[in-house]
Amino acid sequence: MNNHLLTLLLGLTLLPAALRANDIPRPKGPEEDGTLPALVKIAGEGAMDSHAFEYLTELSDEVGARVTGTPSGQKAIDWGLLKMKSIGLQNVRAEKWPLWKGWTRGKAEAELLAPIRHALTIDAMGWTGSTPAGGVEAEVVTANLFDLDDEIPHAAKFRGKIILMSPRGNPKKSFDAIFAQFGDFLRAAHQAGALAVIGGQGGFKAEGMHLTHTGILGFAADFAIPVVDMTREDDSQLERFIDAGKTVRVRMNVQNTFTNGPVESANVVGEIPGREHPEEVFVVGAHLDSWDLSEGATDNGTGTSSVLAAADAIVKSGFQPRRTIRFVLFTGEEQGLLGSLAYTKQHENEMKNHLGDLVLDLGQGPIKEFQLGGRGDLLPAFELFLGALANLREIQVSDKTDVGTDTLPFTLAGLPGINLDQDSPDYKYTNHSAADALEAVKPEVLTQNATIMALAAFWIADRPERLASPWPAEKTAKMLRQKGEYDTLKAFGLWPFGELGAESAATN
Ligand SMILES: [Zn+2]
Repeated sequence: MNNHLLTLLLGLTLLPAALRANDIPRPKGPEEDGTLPALVKIAGEGAMDSHAFEYLTELSDEVGARVTGTPSGQKAIDWGLLKMKSIGLQNVRAEKWPLWKGWTRGKAEAELLAPIRHALTIDAMGWTGSTPAGGVEAEVVTANLFDLDDEIPHAAKFRGKIILMSPRGNPKKSFDAIFAQFGDFLRAAHQAGALAVIGGQGGFKAEGMHLTHTGILGFAADFAIPVVDMTREDDSQLERFIDAGKTVRVRMNVQNTFTNGPVESANVVGEIPGREHPEEVFVVGAHLDSWDLSEGATDNGTGTSSVLAAADAIVKSGFQPRRTIRFVLFTGEEQGLLGSLAYTKQHENEMKNHLGDLVLDLGQGPIKEFQLGGRGDLLPAFELFLGALANLREIQVSDKTDVGTDTLPFTLAGLPGINLDQDSPDYKYTNHSAADALEAVKPEVLTQNATIMALAAFWIADRPERLASPWPAEKTAKMLRQKGEYDTLKAFGLWPFGELGAESAATN
């Protein structure tokens, strides 16, 4: 038993019975808190007159790929504004924020020259550089992704070579820590004169089915060296040749373009104002931006269309919540949660009036769990809410944290960043790949997800008691340390709490 639990148990047994009962008010679910009639109407609108799949089809086919800071990214912002207005949201606006640097994909071609000859399939990772015009031809050598501590000081051996990242042995660190250190390795390799790196997302191999997966290699991080993802099938063959002692030679031509300076992006925002406490705000969000190997239907067209369809169902229900529901389509998520980080910064003075945020960003599958972002205090209330949804779908609840999507900035602000975990077994193939297309999404699953999002948003904003207020920084810092998020956040420069919470977390 840990000390914390022991103190808690001893403390409770010493309390008088009356105080114990009143200490935490018993939460109420929709059956008792007066929200049920509105939820019934919203569920009907969401199930019988949903526009979720129509929105997703438009976004996929009329807007398509929408990388932050590009003209197609702007087209998506304009589309989002138009949709929010036509749904009937109020105060619809674009909240601009600057992206540190823009990037555009050019060609990425590779050919295996020895020991046998054939075309290789590669794609550039986002915000990485180019080979000289016309490409390079070089020997391919491996670097051990699981021993970057040893590879970085010996980077000189990679001069004039193409590096193939190869995870060998057992990892000595968490995958997040390896991902963070991979950036240091890329800088060292570039400085040493390496020509290119084959190393997909954080140096890990692609998922198979002859797909490549693009993506960023840090939070707001760009790299001068070309870094490409290669299909697992090609990548593994190169590795087999090298392991067999054969010399592998590859020709590679990668051309990308960076802008000279910052470019503009914007979060798309619209509201259903609260009828009693309009100044109190619950955010319902997803990221509008995508990668560019396909149309971004599952990352995060599903989230975007769910947010819009949830707004539509609530507006059409005719019920107005007690507090404001603010629908936000964030941009720059793929470059490191930049839009949602900009949002909490721009609304800093208003964060004390926020209740939290709710985000869907895990692909195309049905919602399976509400993850409350470290706010274990809210579990009893959500158990009652999800109990009321039992006839729609059985959904779990936990206080897990997710630092990989737009919940994180709200969690850092001390609020519940609520992540909708999904059962998406195919997402590992569609994520950031050429297969991220409308074909991967089932209309009935999307429609039900959007309805569940609408029900959660309305219930949270309308229940008589305010769901949550921001925790003090120390309490949040302690919680994140206990959840094991400190090392990752620190490694990516996202830990804002200094030494806060260190002592109390260590004694637990
Ligand atoms: Zn995403």
